[in-house]
Amino acid sequence: MKKKISKSDAKEKIKDFFKDMSDKTPKEIKKIKKLSANQKISLNIYKKTFCKKCLFPFQGNEKIRIKNGFKTIVCKNCGKIKRIKI
Ligand SMILES: [Zn+2]
Repeated sequence: MKKKISKSDAKEKIKDFFKDMSDKTPKEIKKIKKLSANQKISLNIYKKTFCKKCLFPFQGNEKIRIKNGFKTIVCKNCGKIKRIKI
């Protein structure tokens, strides 16, 4: 039984996971976050794909506003506003 996975395996797994967020659940995102923490892999580039507060995946149909060089996304699940510099 193989329990520990290598860093490159983990990276591949994370990349694959974030390819399509439409079928993901907050529980799965939590798991991936744990994996990335264990392997010390930054999720920075993927952080805009889910809500930081409730880990709800963004489906692409959230309310999006662009103002002063920032894109704001309102989480459909908890209402948390996420700001992304563009
Ligand atoms: Zn949320």
